[in-house]
Amino acid sequence: MNLLEKRFLRSGKVKDIYDAGHDKLLFVYTDRLSSHDVMLADSVPQKGEVLCRLSAYCFANCKDHGIETHMVEVLDPNKMLVKKLFLIPIEVIGRNYLYGSYWKRYKHGEIQLPEGTNPVLAARLTEPVVEFTTKFEAKDRPLTEQEIVSSGWLGTPEISQIEKTTLELNALMLKDAERAGFILADFKLEFGIDEEGKIILADEAETPDTCRFWDASKYQPNKVQESFDKQIVRDYLEKVKGWDKNQPMPGTKLPKPILPEEIIRRTRQRYVEAYERLTRRRF
Ligand code: C5P
Repeated sequence: MNLLEKRFLRSGKVKDIYDAGHDKLLFVYTDRLSSHDVMLADSVPQKGEVLCRLSAYCFANCKDHGIETHMVEVLDPNKMLVKKLFLIPIEVIGRNYLYGSYWKRYKHGEIQLPEGTNPVLAARLTEPVVEFTTKFEAKDRPLTEQEIVSSGWLGTPEISQIEKTTLELNALMLKDAERAGFILADFKLEFGIDEEGKIILADEAETPDTCRFWDASKYQPNKVQESFDKQIVRDYLEKVKGWDKNQPMPGTKLPKPILPEEIIRRTRQRYVEAYERLTRRRF
């Protein structure tokens, strides 16, 4: 067992996390791919590198604008040293468009839209919305501020601070997206608390895995939009015979389809293009 293996802590869907001293962690962004909540047998070459480099780009931008993040240093194109934090067990969702689970909840009469929003699928919200959901439940469930406070995770001032930071970061990402010819429909962030009790942006940000980016040139309200991520894989899997997305998670008899080379190649190309358009740098 080598030193890195000894320091292994846990694996997420995409990242492997290692202990890197008393106050740091090593994030290794892998090329693993999931779809329909299931890990696939295939991986997409350099997807991990795209996610790591896009997050690093976003975190550097945050630093320039006074938003503190957990990034310490990028060690390799797919390896980032980060500050060890107490991870707040909620996901923070920022929304600019009426889509995804927000649209579903609107259709079920569960939420009120910002005043003046056109109530059609994929309409722009008249103002951005920040929401909170559970992180460690099988299915993400919206959380009210009241629930967060009574769970003891955060107080009202911390919730306000997270909302403020999310809106600030939204403004930065909207600028990047607009310049890149993308629409940033919505995104997910995670925050942690450091030893001094400061709230710090954690996990990853501005990546195709955590944001819904749409091609601005193809955008039409009142329609399902194509998102700039692993949509190619999703679409392919929907058509594969024997693939039942309603089956339980892996470890069961779920068939794991092998993706054709062409699907993997086009997916890789999408991730690389997202990187190049958002950062204006060659991959
Ligand atoms: O599905 P929903 O509309 O709630 O997703 C909102 C945003 O949060 C999307 O950009 C999605 O990619 C992101 N998200 C995520 N990880 C989750 C849940 C949502 O990155 N577990």
